[in-house]
Amino acid sequence: MEKNKILFLDRDGVILNNEKHYYIYRKSDMHYNLGVFEKLGHYAKMGYIFILISNQSGISKGIYSTVDTESIHQKIKTDFEIHGLMLADDFYCPHHPQNGHCFCRKPGSLLIEKALAKWNADLAQSFMVGDSEGDIEAATRAGIKAYKIEPNSNLMLYTAW
Ligand SMILES: [Mg+2]
Ligand SMILES: [Zn+2]
Repeated sequence: MEKNKILFLDRDGVILNNEKHYYIYRKSDMHYNLGVFEKLGHYAKMGYIFILISNQSGISKGIYSTVDTESIHQKIKTDFEIHGLMLADDFYCPHHPQNGHCFCRKPGSLLIEKALAKWNADLAQSFMVGDSEGDIEAATRAGIKAYKIEPNSNLMLYTAW
């Protein structure tokens, strides 16, 4: 089976703008950061697939539900399709440390490792883009490269990836 080149994406602060809403669970609060579709379009042409890796502790805190989260992710999938892109998968941690330890919350690497196995990843070419140290640490622990960006920045401004 051919291996997949995977671009792992943090959601909030990378794909979606979370300047005004720390927790994004309403479709009306969804605003894409600049350059998202153009930048990912270049990677799609290079044969990359896209997977979201996201901490959604608001679920554990009771601020919103898994249904809310999945409907946001469904909308992202639809919006990707409109731009000719395919979001292959989405993984999220619904936990919060105040309610007990879990293995999936970034900087834990479990979600990335699951995705790498499920999608038969090309480890040398797959990488993560995130806006927090936890994103970078999770990717590093999973054995892939990672690039840190400024939260809510224009993705077309980056040249390192
Ligand atoms: Mg983030
Ligand atoms: Zn978790």
